[in-house]
Amino acid sequence: MVRDEGIMFDVIVVGAGPVGSFTAGRLAEEGLEVVLLEEDEKVGRDVICTGIIGKEAFDRFDLPKAAIISSIKSVCFFSPSYFTIDYKPSRILAYVVDRDLFDEEILRGAIEAGVDVRLRNKVLSIEINKDFGEVQSEKEGSLEKIRGRVVVLATGVSYKLHKQVGFSHPPAFLQGTQVEIKVKDLRETEIYLGSHISPGSFAWIVPLRNSQARVGTLTRNRGASYLGHFLKETLEGRVEGIPKVLLKHIAYGPISRSAKDRVLAVGEAAGQVKTTTGGGIIYGLICSEIATQVLKRAFRKGDLSYRQLSEYERLWKSKLGKELRMGKLARKILGRLTDKQIDRIFKFVGERPKVKELMEKEVEFDYHSGLISFGLRLLKGFIRG
Ligand SMILES: Cc1cc2nc3c(=O)[nH]c(=O)nc-3n(C[C@H](O)[C@H](O)[C@H](O)COP(=O)(O)OP(=O)(O)OC[C@H]3O[C@@H](n4cnc5c(N)ncnc54)[C@H](O)[C@@H]3O)c2cc1C
Repeated sequence: MVRDEGIMFDVIVVGAGPVGSFTAGRLAEEGLEVVLLEEDEKVGRDVICTGIIGKEAFDRFDLPKAAIISSIKSVCFFSPSYFTIDYKPSRILAYVVDRDLFDEEILRGAIEAGVDVRLRNKVLSIEINKDFGEVQSEKEGSLEKIRGRVVVLATGVSYKLHKQVGFSHPPAFLQGTQVEIKVKDLRETEIYLGSHISPGSFAWIVPLRNSQARVGTLTRNRGASYLGHFLKETLEGRVEGIPKVLLKHIAYGPISRSAKDRVLAVGEAAGQVKTTTGGGIIYGLICSEIATQVLKRAFRKGDLSYRQLSEYERLWKSKLGKELRMGKLARKILGRLTDKQIDRIFKFVGERPKVKELMEKEVEFDYHSGLISFGLRLLKGFIRG
């Protein structure tokens, strides 16, 4: 039997990750009746994520400080032959959060804003009709139907519902791997490049507390094998007793359309993830804010059709589209460089403080296109000799 509540919500948000909970909370703050459906019984549990969030974005969205484990003040980059470039600005660059607590706190904010939160509620199907969206979910073996004037998909890297509402999948995926482990002699965040580390990409070591660190790789494929190799070879003598490697796919590029009549996708569900680093929280929150403003206007006008909601698509792509494209370009070029060429670039930059200084001016934690353009100009000059 299917229980039909017969109530009409303004918005049904599917998925209580940070982006879904934040969106639900913001919409409720704007006076809308919002229900948030989450399949897990507890948010943030066992999430595979390094939890790095830029300081500026953290402040801008007033994110939960209680979830901060450590801060990143400097980063050391290693070339394949261990030439180094040190980036040491005299300020905090980013925070590393406990995703368990981070997700819980954002959800708490949504509850306080008046969102009707329903955990252990897995959405099985969505049907978009002329006047409302109808969502069927399963809770403890029984089926429920609820209706909303709009449905927001915030299901992360799960795309099972996308086809039902006419959305595509992201064009490709990367693999993110991670372990939490004690690492000796760790003073700052370390980033490693090289074909044996992760071709066209990188591995990272991010300090938490008491020598504990998150170590991971971002790769196209064979992620677990690359991280295993990195821990055993590159970190030989610095780590002991390697734990099981955890792996998760990461959207690489946006879905082709993230708005239709009465439905939007936000966060990783829309592929709003940095194509450089695989970081998705901040781009998701930026787009969540855009979605909130667009929906607010659409409700005021009483027009929830694609004609009105397409503004969301236009606004978020004009804010982040270039970043996503430039990130892909950078990854493509990095993938074509040999280890020797990467070594030579590190040496070149290392020997020229002026170049390093100019490069540092282009660094923005969440927007990488400026630095990529600078890198491309440098590379052109470098190739010409
Ligand atoms: C190894 C690794 C490291 C990473 N490091 C970083 C980092 O340092 N910084 C960063 O910003 N990003 C990082 N990311 C990416 C980041 O974790 C994601 O981009 C982020 O979690 C996306 O948030 P979201 O709210 O869109 O989706 P999610 O956090 O994935 O939340 C989606 C929610 O939807 C729920 N859901 C799905 N389907 C249904 C359904 N049918 N019914 C009900 N509920 C459903 C899920 O249970 C989940 O709770 C990393 C990823 C990996 C793999």
